[in-house]
Amino acid sequence: MGCRRRAPAHELLRIVAVSDGAGYSLRPDPARRLSGRGAHLHPEPACLALAQRRRAFGRALRITGVPDMGELTRHIDALATTPDHPTGRGSHSKQGRTTDMSTR
Ligand SMILES: [Zn+2]
Repeated sequence: MGCRRRAPAHELLRIVAVSDGAGYSLRPDPARRLSGRGAHLHPEPACLALAQRRRAFGRALRITGVPDMGELTRHIDALATTPDHPTGRGSHSKQGRTTDMSTR
């Protein structure tokens, strides 16, 4: 799903759709314990955005309408922003060179 890159199953986040009566919400299921049809996605914001744009969740999870993605989005954002990288993804450490201009 999402970017269609292949990956071992253990690197993918399982996602299930839970109905609350009015509609569906997507729930992350890292422990793979929730029942029902699951979809697998790289736990990355970019992959989530791709899956959302392609409406891949509706097809993979056999649901209609637009699911609530709030909880899933927060889960993946929390995974992407680890304490080691407070600025988020990438962690390009070339910013130290910007001081060169002021020391001239
Ligand atoms: Zn992906």
